[in-house]
Amino acid sequence: MSEIIVGIDLGTTNSEVAMVRGGRVDVIPVGIDTFILPSVVGFTEDGTLLVGEPAKNQHALHPERTVRSIKRRMGEDVRLTVGGHEYTPQEISSMILRQLKGIAERELGESVSKAVITVPAFFSDAQRQATREAGAIAGLDVVRIINEPTAAALAYESGREGAHKVLVYDLGGGTFDVSVVNLEKDVVEVLSSHGNNHLGGDDFDAKIVEHVVAHLREASGVEGELAPAAQARIRRAAEAAKIHLSDAPYATIMEEYLLEHRGEPVHLNLELSRDDYEAMIEPYIAETLEAAHTALEGAGLTVSDLDEVLLVGGATRTPLVARRLEEELGLQPRGEVDPDLCVAMGAAIQAGIIAGMETPTVLVDVTPYTFGTSALGFLEGMEYPYCYVPLIRKNTPIPVSKSEVFYTTHDGQQRVDVTVHQGEDPDALNNIEIGRFSIEGLRDAPRGNPIVTTFSLDLNGILHVSSKEKATGLEYSVTIDNAIARFEEAEMETARQRVEALFAPGDDSAATAAPRQRVEAKALVEKAERLLEGASPDDREDLVDRIEALNDALAGDDDGALGEAMDAMADLIYYLES
Ligand code: AMP
Repeated sequence: MSEIIVGIDLGTTNSEVAMVRGGRVDVIPVGIDTFILPSVVGFTEDGTLLVGEPAKNQHALHPERTVRSIKRRMGEDVRLTVGGHEYTPQEISSMILRQLKGIAERELGESVSKAVITVPAFFSDAQRQATREAGAIAGLDVVRIINEPTAAALAYESGREGAHKVLVYDLGGGTFDVSVVNLEKDVVEVLSSHGNNHLGGDDFDAKIVEHVVAHLREASGVEGELAPAAQARIRRAAEAAKIHLSDAPYATIMEEYLLEHRGEPVHLNLELSRDDYEAMIEPYIAETLEAAHTALEGAGLTVSDLDEVLLVGGATRTPLVARRLEEELGLQPRGEVDPDLCVAMGAAIQAGIIAGMETPTVLVDVTPYTFGTSALGFLEGMEYPYCYVPLIRKNTPIPVSKSEVFYTTHDGQQRVDVTVHQGEDPDALNNIEIGRFSIEGLRDAPRGNPIVTTFSLDLNGILHVSSKEKATGLEYSVTIDNAIARFEEAEMETARQRVEALFAPGDDSAATAAPRQRVEAKALVEKAERLLEGASPDDREDLVDRIEALNDALAGDDDGALGEAMDAMADLIYYLES
């Protein structure tokens, strides 16, 4: 039996372990319902080691006994004092690795002694060496160190034929890097890498915190530095709001009895819109896009050389990220492999390849179609009432729920018709309508009354669409069973009609091999016959020859010969007409 090799993503904020089993890539749960181990190590008062969530929880109270982000110190010749003892960065990292090794062993029921570990593309030799040492201290033979973008690319692309170039955009909690990689079969080469070691989702949280604190000062007259406990609550609420805004157009930030001011309790209750939030973080996104261009230049490539853009890191779930990348690079970024787990999966795939397994691929449940609604907007520069607004994009993992806000278009509007479509066309009318309903009895309000529409698609392909008047909560909805299969049926019908239209009226022959080609060939013969009249004797002769050849080809069943005869005829007609 071949020895198991696990793949480990040893991250700055979080770490994960994965392996290939029975041809599948499995990320191993580290706790109930979670695959993510916080990269935090600590000691209790009596010296007991804590790794992961419990260590993270004690950090706020006992920073002197807790270490976070040790990855930033890897390769440095330092000793850190934690809980009264000194440790090297390798030793601290090894505690995280040892924890993951134990988790994998418990899952497998056998010992695990080999691993592939990922590191950032920009890691120096000293940092890579330190990572190897951390593995060795944890009792792991590090059979290979691979770059994180390489692992991400493998998770998406392993086994794909042909060479292609991929931009891996990795935005985590506290680090950002973007790499251009070249893939050829299972050989991945990082062509260039660029980033900012101190940029990530935590900065987005900080922007929301700033906004909340400014609101508290203005609305409740709160002054001076806030108590640490209140700050911690605001930070947590800010992150939750940020995550909510990835799927919804508004988030409510609510914390009761947050603090006391002049003897009175202060409650926090603030609504943040996605538009306002996006304006706050736009400068950060702009910085990452600039880095993407720098990475492309570093690889000696231009935007048009790219085949794919892959999203890695939890913060890439922010919709603005994919939207701005698509605007900038002209490719719809792919994020269907869980952005938190994709590096660990890639490491496991590399481990599988080293162990001589058949190259496994990652399977995810995604929607094969885009679902959306229609609204007044601009299409090709003109105001148009049926612009398509996709809510759930093709290749989004399911189950999924996404909301958008729409506005009434005239004063006193009491009703809005909501249509549900599947398809990709910017004109909703060119997509397939799979449902509709109306929301009626809206309050008497000037135009611009916000209506929040939510699309939820479950694993069984059941699509639930609801629309709610934001101010009153008035709600209407429709449920579309088997939305995915319905589209296939509708598509089949459209395809059938397309094929049917190619047959001449009254021609019921289903045996004709290439109907469109034959219809066009017959049209060419008719056209050539019309040209016979008025042609010079030499041209007539050529025409007659080619009409005969084309009729012969039509009588036979060799599609290639028919194509050649059509080309020859088209050339002659072109010559005669010009
Ligand atoms: P990572 O370091 O890759 O685990 O990414 C962690 C970062 O992703 C943190 O800042 C999280 O708050 C952020 N994050 C996780 N889920 C979401 C989400 N749905 N939308 C926006 N940010 C998210």
